Amino acid sequence: MPWPLGSIGFQWYSSPFGGILKAVRGMHDIFGLEMTKWKWIETQVRSVFENFGYQEIRTPVLENIEVFSKTVGDETDIVEKQMYQVTKENESLVLRPEGTAGFMRAVLEHQLHRDPSVQKYFYYLPMFRHERPQKGRLRQFHQFGAEFINDSSPEADADVIALLDSIYRKLGITEYDIRINSLGCLECRPQMKETLTRFLKPELPKLCEQCQKRFERAPFRILDCKRESCREITAQGPVLSSCLCSKCQAHHLQLKKRLNEAQINFIDDPSIVRGLDYYSSTAFEFTSSLLGAQSALGGGGRYDQLAERFGEKPFPAVGFALGMERLVIALEAKNAFPEKPLVPRIYLAPLGDKALDILFPLSLNLRRAGVWTEISYESQKSLKAQLKHANRIQCRFSLILGEDEINKKTALLKDMTAQTQMEIPLEGLFENLLNKVTREN
Ligand code: AMP
Repeated sequence: MPWPLGSIGFQWYSSPFGGILKAVRGMHDIFGLEMTKWKWIETQVRSVFENFGYQEIRTPVLENIEVFSKTVGDETDIVEKQMYQVTKENESLVLRPEGTAGFMRAVLEHQLHRDPSVQKYFYYLPMFRHERPQKGRLRQFHQFGAEFINDSSPEADADVIALLDSIYRKLGITEYDIRINSLGCLECRPQMKETLTRFLKPELPKLCEQCQKRFERAPFRILDCKRESCREITAQGPVLSSCLCSKCQAHHLQLKKRLNEAQINFIDDPSIVRGLDYYSSTAFEFTSSLLGAQSALGGGGRYDQLAERFGEKPFPAVGFALGMERLVIALEAKNAFPEKPLVPRIYLAPLGDKALDILFPLSLNLRRAGVWTEISYESQKSLKAQLKHANRIQCRFSLILGEDEINKKTALLKDMTAQTQMEIPLEGLFENLLNKVTREN
């Protein structure tokens, strides 16, 4: 059975100014077939989170600007140029550009890290970034995210990476690479920074303008530059993993051991630095050839020091975010949406007011019993017109009730697939019908 047609066509609204009002650039309406695909993905992803013991958290769309400016990092694209700001009565607010900073604000506000019963949270929320829109890069997009708090072990990192891996596997996506790296901790980061800047300083004139700007305050971000000319330079750079302290080295080794045990293939890639400042120790990215230019499927890492940026005592935390729109693109590229019979089960066709009196309550009872039921309220319409509609929406069964049937105290049930029909007595109609339409495949 194919996916349902859903809403057909578009409806345009003329603005009072004469033009056509459209959705904001880089933001989309989701409906019809697209919505059906999204709902299918959402159900699959939620079930994986639940199997891994994650509880959902929803934070507000608007946060105080400090939630991001103090945490994500001044030199990041997000804080530098991508935040949508709203100013209202002296409050400077921002439409959430990413999930972790708001999550941390909520954890600290409600002291969730002191509650030993839940350590694992997931979210599914819209994000807003003023980026240059293109395929797979939107200004409003949606992320699923995982946040595992109060566990500093490399096993927690492996658990989170395995969770992201399981989500793609569950959806049937196997075409991706996992890249991992260690960004070091408070102890070894200064040494890494010193080694990197010593190498980069003489190369500065050859780096792009953005990288030159980042040299002083965020030199690690230069490793993440997508320009070929910058990449060629950084590829010649020092192996920063040799600067890791013994604790970070052991952590990274143990993570790799656990991933190997879990049969999760990965590449140890020192260029993985992530675009956000709050990461330390483990960082990872999933990329896929199914996506085209915007190849990042999802990514994350450890953010053990993030609470400090809110002026609170730090605690261990690791997480990831994955892009919903990119999942849709990947699944479409594979043509991997399952064939699902997402169509109504039964269509009730009343011919005349008396028939509608009987079928209206019947439709509600069937729905209450969990049967997807459609009914025509235009009982004056011909049988032919009503059945045509039932066919168009691909109902398996149709129940016809006209004057003749009422006189005979029966209704006519048509099975569109088996091409059969049978009379059902009006007495006990609901039970009979329920039995019939739920028994057949
Ligand atoms: P980030 O929060 O930047 O680490 O992004 C995590 C994931 O969200 C990425 O791997 C993408 O799948 C997705 N993503 C990030 N930015 C966008 C965007 N502008 N449009 C669509 N998806 C995005």
